[in-house]
Amino acid sequence: MEVPLLDLKAQFARIKDEVTAAIHSVLESQRFILGPEVSELEKAIAEYSNCAAAVGVSSGTDALLASLMTLGIGQGDEVITTPYTFFATAGSIWRVGAKPVFVDIEPETFNIDPTKIEAAVTDKTKAIIPVHLFGQMAEMDLIVEAARKYNLFVIEDAAQAIGATYKGRKAGSIGTVGCFSFFPSKNLGGMGDGGMIVTQDVELADRLRQCRNHGSKPKYYHKWVGGNFRLDTLQAAILLVKLRYLDDWSAKRRANAARYNELFADVEEVITPTIREYNVSIYNQYVIRVPRRDELQAYLKDKGIGTAIYYPLSLHEQECFKSLGYKKGDFPESERAAAESLALPIYPELTDEQIQYVATMIKEFFSRKS
Ligand SMILES: *Cc1c(COP(=O)(O)O)cnc(C)c1O
Repeated sequence: MEVPLLDLKAQFARIKDEVTAAIHSVLESQRFILGPEVSELEKAIAEYSNCAAAVGVSSGTDALLASLMTLGIGQGDEVITTPYTFFATAGSIWRVGAKPVFVDIEPETFNIDPTKIEAAVTDKTKAIIPVHLFGQMAEMDLIVEAARKYNLFVIEDAAQAIGATYKGRKAGSIGTVGCFSFFPSKNLGGMGDGGMIVTQDVELADRLRQCRNHGSKPKYYHKWVGGNFRLDTLQAAILLVKLRYLDDWSAKRRANAARYNELFADVEEVITPTIREYNVSIYNQYVIRVPRRDELQAYLKDKGIGTAIYYPLSLHEQECFKSLGYKKGDFPESERAAAESLALPIYPELTDEQIQYVATMIKEFFSRKS
């Protein structure tokens, strides 16, 4: 049996006609830059996320970058974030000239440990970027409390968490801004790159809109420097189709996760994901912790099962950040997660046979003599 980590062809088969029609309609209009589908998607995502406004941008990375730029964060500033995330989170902080300051994660959720944030605040700190990793939101109440106390912006990196909730509140709706990614492997994925920034502050949304278009307002008049961070009309049209399926797809991922949890209940070596009782995860990834992780991954590959390691090297250990002065051992929980975590196939179209096969092969691996 073959079980890929993700099967986008299975998803496309179901929505092919609708997506093709949406693409054709943009082709007929020839309005490729900031066409009407972009503002239509912005309205839909703002509403979906319980936010006052949304601004379509060129990627999740550019959502973070444009947010930092628009909030005026740069040279001499510090931004607190997690070392256990996709590179873009810290890369964006670096690119505006600010300094990423890392805080270790909670071992249960893989998200930033809110009890360690305050100790990392200095008089240069301007913002906190919590990442809602793998589809579960970070501990927002405590993060917002720390941010209020020190007058910091909160930029939610919700690239993996569109539609997730924390105590009933949607990802992106709590911080100063929330950043989504439409990278094809995200729960709401485009057919190319794309992203969105959501916020409750309509005046800020206005400035974000200028930022994504070279800081221009009116056209050809620039009070500050932005960039070309625009979302393509074609992507917006495709995403409008896919958005209608998002909740259904995320519910299927949750059902698949529940099935795995059940099947792993008697497997001592497998630590299944912890979701806090007040959180609803969208399971962008289903990540287990196991001993002999690399050996297991090779074994599963041999059996036709795709897996991935998110992330093999914590950001404080990356060569490009050497000048920040961090060293191995600085963030033990992040480093342990990097050594033990393994993402299993969780996509909505998985069959029960496939899930059972994955679980059986993992059980088989651990029941062999090591
Ligand atoms: C995917 C992702 C990003 C970047 O999104 P792109 O659209 O690929 O630029 C940022 N942060 C996290 C946590 C992500 O998973």
